[in-house]
Amino acid sequence: MTTYRIGHGYDIHKLCMGRKLVLGGVEIAFEKGLDGHSDADVICHAVMDSLLGAAALGDIGGHFPNNDITYKNADSLKLLTRVKELIGESRYSIGNIDITVIAEAPMIAPHIPQMISNLSRALGISANDISVKATTNETLGFIGRGEGIAAFCVALLRK
Ligand code: ZN
Repeated sequence: MTTYRIGHGYDIHKLCMGRKLVLGGVEIAFEKGLDGHSDADVICHAVMDSLLGAAALGDIGGHFPNNDITYKNADSLKLLTRVKELIGESRYSIGNIDITVIAEAPMIAPHIPQMISNLSRALGISANDISVKATTNETLGFIGRGEGIAAFCVALLRK
């Protein structure tokens, strides 16, 4: 009998000058980047938390502490692959993931195919099982003022 488990992940990072903008493993040309200990890739971070949540394996802060020098400027796609291994060790496989990115700027849509390809490779799942959607915050609040970028992810695991 197949068991299904659902998980939810959320992440947000602040936009600041002098940082690269990396989303879903894609470096996007923009005047600002996301601030954080790792590469601050909110998409990868939300995906990791959704997978860990579905498997009840804690969260990324527990697995990759932000006071650990190992993860300074870490490539989040590599951390994502590590999470996939943890999921596999618990004998789960990934059904699908569905991501929503909220950014006032830059335009996310042109980069979505490359993001899906990166996530597909890191997680070892088909591109058909990955959805990346982007929206703005309609100029409302801190995201609307361009102070940060957030991402949500829902993941389904099966055993
Ligand atoms: Zn993060």
